[in-house]
Amino acid sequence: MSADEKIPLPDDEYLSREELMHLHGVLQAQAELLLNANRQNISHLTDQREVDADAVDQASNESDRGFSLRLADRDRLMLKKIQTAQSRMFEGEYGSCEECGEPIGYKRQLARPVASQCIDCKTSAEQSERRSWQA
Ligand SMILES: [Zn+2]
Repeated sequence: MSADEKIPLPDDEYLSREELMHLHGVLQAQAELLLNANRQNISHLTDQREVDADAVDQASNESDRGFSLRLADRDRLMLKKIQTAQSRMFEGEYGSCEECGEPIGYKRQLARPVASQCIDCKTSAEQSERRSWQA
């Protein structure tokens, strides 16, 4: 979207304007993909219900639907992460770790645009998560 240049993103502490604009575009594209995928899922489900009104394989139809709904749940979670990342951009917080405040790094943000923690904090968070599962 060429209107991107008009988005009033504040200057970021750790990312250049170009890097920030690029990542904003990546997040936007991901959000649109997810929204489109869900729209297709929903119309797919509606179609199925009409076609299979008295279907023989109702059971497999039900499990398909369950799968699609689970997928939609995961997509909703991802969309939430994208929105959080974008609002952090508007607060000028994007690019710095929400735990320790250190720069996350452009390369890591590019690989994981929704990441809000540096690799060190993310790793230790995952380790303590694993510990709490074992307890
Ligand atoms: Zn950190």
